[in-house]
Amino acid sequence: MSIKTISILGSTGSIGCSTLDVIEQTNNNYSNNIGDLRFEIIALTANRAYKQLIEQAKKFKPKMVVLVEKEHCDEVVEALNPLGIKISFGPEALIEAAQMQSDMIMAAIVGAAGLGPTIEAAKRGANILLANKECLVCAGDVFLKTAKENNAKILPVDSEHNAIFQVLQNPKEVEKLILTASGGPFLNTHIDNLYDVTPEQAVAHPNWQMGKKISVDCASLMNKGLEL
Ligand code: NDP
Repeated sequence: MSIKTISILGSTGSIGCSTLDVIEQTNNNYSNNIGDLRFEIIALTANRAYKQLIEQAKKFKPKMVVLVEKEHCDEVVEALNPLGIKISFGPEALIEAAQMQSDMIMAAIVGAAGLGPTIEAAKRGANILLANKECLVCAGDVFLKTAKENNAKILPVDSEHNAIFQVLQNPKEVEKLILTASGGPFLNTHIDNLYDVTPEQAVAHPNWQMGKKISVDCASLMNKGLEL
């Protein structure tokens, strides 16, 4: 029987919610004596989605929640204070969440906002489940150096990087790596017609339900650039 502790930065997003689904299924198996692994949640964080964060906290009972935007702080305090959950607000609280001891931390904040807390997790030698590849794009040298110096492990969560990570366990067997793309919503759109597409069309990815930024990045192929 093993208990692992985990924090989820960006728990209200697409990756954050999928992570919580996996945790819930794993914990249900544990409760039903089917599995031998159980997760305990240390911190959950969101930017503005305070209602969703409250629901998640009531269900998963983390030690701490962080809401970056302070507008609805009263509602969060009222809902979660009676449960004894520590509540912090503002971007600096993300650092506090990342510093809290946990076996692993899911880095699933979108964009450069994820960089500070993910580097903080690297400083304490955490096992970092990295969805936020933007960290590597915007400050890869600093991030990787910090991780190396502190023996932090980085496990890529983005599917392409995870697949590459797995095949590179036997690097001698790999001759070439090819990144593919599934197409996105504009696969069959003529280039002349791209000037008129709307944000709604851009986020309507035919295969995946993801956050808005990565969906737009897929539609424009920018996501392949970030992956590369
Ligand atoms: P979402 O937009 O769905 O979720 C982003 C999360 O980050 C939310 O919890 C959001 O809070 C929070 N957030 C947004 N801005 C800030 C901020 N300024 N400060 C703190 N928190 C913030 O994104 P995804 O889950 O789609 O993507 C997350 C990361 O994973 C990205 O780096 C993306 O490239 C990567 N990724 C995602 C995949 C997917 O399938 N979705 C696949 C591969 C990689 P709130 O809900 O309150 O806005």
